[in-house]
Amino acid sequence: MQDCKVNILGTEYQILTQSEYENPKLRECNGLCEQYSKKIILNDFQAQKDDVMCVENPDEFMKKVLRHEIFHAFFGESGLRSCSEFAENEELVDWLAIMSPKIFRIFQELNIL
Ligand SMILES: [Zn+2]
Repeated sequence: MQDCKVNILGTEYQILTQSEYENPKLRECNGLCEQYSKKIILNDFQAQKDDVMCVENPDEFMKKVLRHEIFHAFFGESGLRSCSEFAENEELVDWLAIMSPKIFRIFQELNIL
């Protein structure tokens, strides 16, 4: 994923890909949404590339991770992040990340976007 910027509810976020060496927080996760520095940071997975348990299609996995972090950013920018039970619920956020392409495909098919 090439570094870029995206506008989330009127706030610009940088989307970056970093190594675990560059950003040690990535040793604990696949991606981060840094709400106060307005960055979404993806793990470049170079540290895991030789791990036999590494995902087989890292590009598709990174897309899912990016969708997940974007949902965190939407929740954060809408004021729901720290004081809501669902905005920090990783299961719900991951469900949104996994299901949103399927939902959007139906919206496109029905021309309701
Ligand atoms: Zn998360």
